[in-house]
Amino acid sequence: MIARAAALFAALLLVSCAEHPLKLQEVASHVFAFIGETEEIKPSNRGNVINTGFIVGSDGVVVIDSGANHKHGQMILDEIASVTSKPIVLLINTHPHPENVLGNSAFAEKGIPILAHSETTAAMQARCETCLKHTREQLSEEIMRGTEIVIPTRSVEHSQDLSIAGRRLRLLYFGWAHTEGDLGVLDVETGVLFAGGLVFHDQIPVMQQANTRGWIAALDALKNQPITRIVPAAGPIANASAVADTLVYLKSLLESMERQYAEGKSAIDVLSSSDLPQFREWALYDWTHQLNVQHVYRELEREELSAERDELYSGLSAPLAPADPWCAAFASSGFGPAVTLTAGLSAIPNSDIVDSTAARCGSGTDSCQWLR
Ligand SMILES: [Zn+2]
Repeated sequence: MIARAAALFAALLLVSCAEHPLKLQEVASHVFAFIGETEEIKPSNRGNVINTGFIVGSDGVVVIDSGANHKHGQMILDEIASVTSKPIVLLINTHPHPENVLGNSAFAEKGIPILAHSETTAAMQARCETCLKHTREQLSEEIMRGTEIVIPTRSVEHSQDLSIAGRRLRLLYFGWAHTEGDLGVLDVETGVLFAGGLVFHDQIPVMQQANTRGWIAALDALKNQPITRIVPAAGPIANASAVADTLVYLKSLLESMERQYAEGKSAIDVLSSSDLPQFREWALYDWTHQLNVQHVYRELEREELSAERDELYSGLSAPLAPADPWCAAFASSGFGPAVTLTAGLSAIPNSDIVDSTAARCGSGTDSCQWLR
């Protein structure tokens, strides 16, 4: 049963002390969020810089994101236990950032299954070791004590509806946006969207792993969902218009960078000429916006290099022997199926070949053949 639901009506319940710095808010009937600080990760906030939350169904509880460390995850569990005695039946990791997933170990201790998009699982396997080390350096050994990397045990590949705990949840996946594995979680009954990394509110979006064009496409698609309220990645609870606000920021930044890139400005030049005054009031503008400027500039550079590479390869088609050493190396690299080298490729760096071939090769190609 929901023991404290009546006391939580549409109000911010601040459980604020050194041991329990979580801010619990009831967003809609049986839907709760923990509102993180709108700050960079630092010891004083113990990594609590994103929003997490939970949904109480008739048969159990589903939690969205686990926090930045084991203690954060444990505090989430403690707070949920003060709201309901129902069992937690699932934890969903919306995306692979450390502040969203490093609390997983507290849930794994209780035997709670963890679900994520398969791209999040892959990214955690590839990056979490480094992320954990970096987060330890940011926060301290003491704050991170007990934190272990726990990889999700269940995965999804596409958007799908999930009936769980007597609730219907819509898992939304639109491809690489804020990260490669972003899931949004829509509680269909109330229209509350846990936006994962897709939507920020009154805070500059974090783009360090972003695909800007993919993120813009994702938000264009997200606008069609029946959303009433949003638990954003960071910032206060929002209404559906926060989707459009994040979209305007991303489009404004991309347009500014495309214009300046076309004018020939350097990555240094754009640092002093990319102010977006309409977003100055958003949290973390001074620091995060500048990082975003650099990120988008680098994306445009990669796009240009990729176009040049495609042009370079366009005249190459004559197959070489499948026994070519590079071909064998690629086949065993895990990037994709075996491919045939083509005449003249020896002058092109291997890294370029791998990048381009991985992008061009479809699965299931068992003979060495250049795909064009
Ligand atoms: Zn994130």
